[in-house]
Amino acid sequence: MNVNWMRATALALTVGMSTITAAQTGAAVVTRVGTQPSSAGPEQYFTGSVRVDSRFQAASPARVGGGIVTFEPGAHTAWHTHPLGQTLIVTAGVGRVQTWGDAVQEIRPGDVVWIPPGAKHWHGASPTVGMSHVAISESLNGTSVEWMEKLGREQYGQ
Ligand code: MN
Repeated sequence: MNVNWMRATALALTVGMSTITAAQTGAAVVTRVGTQPSSAGPEQYFTGSVRVDSRFQAASPARVGGGIVTFEPGAHTAWHTHPLGQTLIVTAGVGRVQTWGDAVQEIRPGDVVWIPPGAKHWHGASPTVGMSHVAISESLNGTSVEWMEKLGREQYGQ
């Protein structure tokens, strides 16, 4: 976990506390673009250049969190699982997603991907075109992701 990533998480928690305040007054909370710095996907969990923006984390008892993840061409996650699953909404570019033992699927803007709870998978850009998606997952016992090994080059493909 690098420093930027931790800083982004701390900011997300701050956003969560704002949400509690808002819930008491009923006012909408708008976290303005530019108030949270972009964070880099840590090298131990991502291959290539990955950026996370617009991170959010609801305060307990709500458990939803996520952000907008942007993968440069060829960039992708390591293998991982989400205890309560994950929804990906592709917003730009051309990407790939694969669950363990299944074929790689190409994903495009407007596609909605559901990763079932506990399913080992990866997601990322195509080799030649970057990809952005909104990633949404719920945490269980404070954790929304379990990281595993990195992809082999032959697993990502051409
Ligand atoms: Mn995932």
